[in-house]
Amino acid sequence: MSAILEVQDLSVAFRGQEVVREVGFSVSPGQTVALVGESGSGKSVTALSCLQLLGPGGANPAGRILLDGTDVLKASPAELQRLRGGVAGMVFQEPMTSLNPLHSIGRQVGEAVTLHQPLRGAALRARVIALLERAGLPNAAQRLDAFPHQLSGGQRQRVMIAAALANDPKLLIADEPTTALDVTIQAQILELLDQLKRRLNMAMLLITHDLSIVRRHADHVVVMRHGRVVEQGPAAQVLNDPQHDYTKMLLATEP
Ligand code: ADP
Ligand code: MG
Repeated sequence: MSAILEVQDLSVAFRGQEVVREVGFSVSPGQTVALVGESGSGKSVTALSCLQLLGPGGANPAGRILLDGTDVLKASPAELQRLRGGVAGMVFQEPMTSLNPLHSIGRQVGEAVTLHQPLRGAALRARVIALLERAGLPNAAQRLDAFPHQLSGGQRQRVMIAAALANDPKLLIADEPTTALDVTIQAQILELLDQLKRRLNMAMLLITHDLSIVRRHADHVVVMRHGRVVEQGPAAQVLNDPQHDYTKMLLATEP
């Protein structure tokens, strides 16, 4: 089995209410898998489960999630720490991104690095600049001391991408990474993610409700509705010859 991520029979309940039901799909090296479905269909809960990020709150994931061969749902705290950021990086929708408004962007990217790499001083600074440049932040070296509010939304998302890829993960999980951005910026960020994916030889789990993004960027599509997978397959097949009525409806209402 060469999949980098394999989700098998995943079910997640909050206080007895199942919001993800028997979900299964896999992501192979180099592949972009899109998870689509309208708001509330369980996409984010599925993505967060892949790194055990649901928090206490009563969530109760069952099933198996193999990330680079390790069962995330049974992993020890030390294994989880290695997997988070080291094997899979994660980017969220911009207003949700956890950039701390009180800390400089250089410090925050630096913290992502030192979680997994013992760098300090000039070596750390050089690595942070390289990561920000790789993510396309203009004048990165001059902006290490900038605070998040001094950047545009697209630039903040580039900082988040720099942090998510700080340890050259094998998988990037991107949960609605461009939903909050202007259309032209959306295209630039998605282009950047594609480029980095190729350059770093990564796989990507791309969560979106935007089918035009799926059309342009995905190899495989998983369609979710009310917590279940209703249809999945190669992107061309699902988009051009949908089998499930729900997928047909999504495609018919595509703007
Ligand atoms: P999507 O990302 O597809 O829009 P989510 O995965 O965020 O949907 O949510 C799926 C369902 O799970 C929703 O009904 C949502 O209200 C519920 N849910 C998500 N997170 C929590 C939580 N921490 N506690 C309780 N319910 C939650
Ligand atoms: Mg979501």
